[in-house]
Amino acid sequence: MTASGYILGPDRRGDCAWIVGDQWRWFGRGAPPGAPKAEQLACPDADIQPGRVNAHTHLYSGAVPYGVAMPVNPEPGLLPMLSGLWWKLDCALDHATLKSSARAAVADALLHGTTTVFDHHESPSCIEGSLDVVANACCSLGIRALLTYGATERNSGGEEAYAGLRECQRLCQHAPVGVVGCVGVHAGFTVRDDTLRAAGRLAVELGTVVHVHVAEDPADVDSARERGHAGPLTRLLACEATPPGSIVAHGIGLSQAEVAWADKSKLWLVHNPRSNAGNGLPYAQILRHARRVALGSDGFAGPMTAEVAQARQLGSAFGESPRLALHRLRAGWVLAGERLGVRLGWPTPSEPAAADVVAMRGDRAVHVLVGGRVVVRDGALVHGTETSIRSNARAAAAALNRAMARL
Ligand SMILES: [Zn+2]
Repeated sequence: MTASGYILGPDRRGDCAWIVGDQWRWFGRGAPPGAPKAEQLACPDADIQPGRVNAHTHLYSGAVPYGVAMPVNPEPGLLPMLSGLWWKLDCALDHATLKSSARAAVADALLHGTTTVFDHHESPSCIEGSLDVVANACCSLGIRALLTYGATERNSGGEEAYAGLRECQRLCQHAPVGVVGCVGVHAGFTVRDDTLRAAGRLAVELGTVVHVHVAEDPADVDSARERGHAGPLTRLLACEATPPGSIVAHGIGLSQAEVAWADKSKLWLVHNPRSNAGNGLPYAQILRHARRVALGSDGFAGPMTAEVAQARQLGSAFGESPRLALHRLRAGWVLAGERLGVRLGWPTPSEPAAADVVAMRGDRAVHVLVGGRVVVRDGALVHGTETSIRSNARAAAAALNRAMARL
C-alpha cells in the first residue's frame, strides 16, 4: 500500500472512495478534496459500497458445493438434514479438509462482497486446534471474522462439550490480528443445563458473548419444554447462557415473550432465510417484533444480497416491507461494530469508517478492501488463487465423501 492510500473509483455513478491506512475517509463525486496522490483502483462499471456482514455461517461447509454427497430423498425438516448430512460432515472433518473447506468459503465470501463473517464451527473428531485452522483461512485471505466452536454433547457427552468450550477459550485468548473469538454452543437441545451455565460463565470471564442456534427447529422448543422451561430462549436465560450482546441464530419458534426478552437482554437475532427455506422450515416472522436482527447465510454460498432477496420474497407474504431485509443486512455493521470494535458502513463528513469497502459489478466483487488492505483486485483474490482453492475444495469434498461413508 502506498503511504497515501487508495482512491477507489470513480464507479458507474462517478463516485469515489478515499482510503487512508485502515480508514475510509471520504465518499463522493470526483476526487476527494485535498487528497494527496494515491493509488487508483478503477471500477467504472461497478458500484462502491461498504463491505457486507454475514452474521451467521459455517465455513466448514465450504466444500459442499464442490461435490459432497447429499442425502437421498431425506424426510422434510431440519433433523433429517442434520443426521443425514451436517452431523456426518462435521464428524468427517480433519484439519486438512477443514482448511480446504474454510478457504473455499472465505474466498466465495470475499468474491461476493462479504468482508466480515461470524462463523460457528464444529468438527468433533478434531476439536483442539480447529479454530486455528479456520482463523488461518480467514487471516490468510484477508476477511474479518468472529469465530467460535459450537460446544455440543451429541457425540460423546460432557467431555466433548468441555473440549469445545476449551477451544473457544484458547482462541479468545490467542486470536490472531483480524480475528476475534467468542463462546459457542451448538444448540440447547444437544447440551445439558450444566454446559449452558459453563458457556455463559466462560463468556463473562472472557468478556465476550455466546453464539448459539435457538428455536431453528421445533425439536429445540420441545426439548426446552420437556426440561420444564417455557421455551428454548427462556431456558438459556435461566441458565445465564447468553450475556448481553450474545448472538442467537434463527429464532423461528420463539414466542413473542421470548423475543421481548431477547431485546431486553440486548441479544442479537440472526435471520437465515435461504437456509430456513431450504430446510422446509417456516418463515421467521416472529423476528419482526425484535429490534436487533441481522442476516446470515448459515453456510450458503454466494452474495448476502441473495439472503435479502429471499427474505423479501418470503416476508412479502406476511406484509413485511421490502426495506426490512436491507435494514437487517445493514444491522450487521452495528453487530460487527459491537463485537469487533470497528465502525463499519458508510463514512460521514465528520466520522470515517473502517476501510471495508467493495466495488460490486452485480453480485461479483471487482475490488475488495478490508481494513484498508486490498484483498480482491480486478475480480481476483490477492492472497490466494481461486482455481487452486476450488481444486482443493473438490479434493476435500471427495475425501469427506469417503470419510462420511465410513461413519
Ligand atoms: Zn447455523
